[in-house]
Amino acid sequence: MKAVQAKIIQSKYLSNTNSTSNLHILVDEIPNFKQIIHTVAFDERLQFYYFYARHKGFVNYFISSPKWGESNGEQEFAVWIWCPTCVAKKVFDSACATCSGEKYYSTNIKGVGASNPATMHNYFPPCVNVTLTDSPIVFSRGYTFIAGAVTLEFAQNTIKEFRLPVILIQKASSRNEIEWELSFNQK
Ligand SMILES: [Zn+2]
Repeated sequence: MKAVQAKIIQSKYLSNTNSTSNLHILVDEIPNFKQIIHTVAFDERLQFYYFYARHKGFVNYFISSPKWGESNGEQEFAVWIWCPTCVAKKVFDSACATCSGEKYYSTNIKGVGASNPATMHNYFPPCVNVTLTDSPIVFSRGYTFIAGAVTLEFAQNTIKEFRLPVILIQKASSRNEIEWELSFNQK
């Protein structure tokens, strides 16, 4: 995924973050999250599974709980995940029962919920919510974008490359989770 153009839109209505400004990026191609491989973390106390995948700067994340799957009747879908057994045991040269040696496998997920970068940062490398499109027409029109996420590095490089008047600042949320927010560069 490569940034072709980028701009800052200031509106709390167009934003998919708590911030009033949002980074809009036109990219050459948005990866299909169903084809990239997610890493899974589990919170035993909350019974939440955290799914996170990175591919060429693109980030996809969501949470899932077995509890929701039974109650909300949501349609299930398949995602690829890294084999937790292989990752934990580092038995990369021998086949394990879960993935048959492929190191990742496809599994059906149901009971999916939205999350945010601050929560994901408890388990995974930093990412930033942005607004993505791969259509130049949509980019210039300025709406019907896809809310998405990119790696912190991809966001920083995009800001730099297109000389946008913002910086990403790190702040701690009320629950002491780390997040990055766009701030206008005061210089
Ligand atoms: Zn395995």
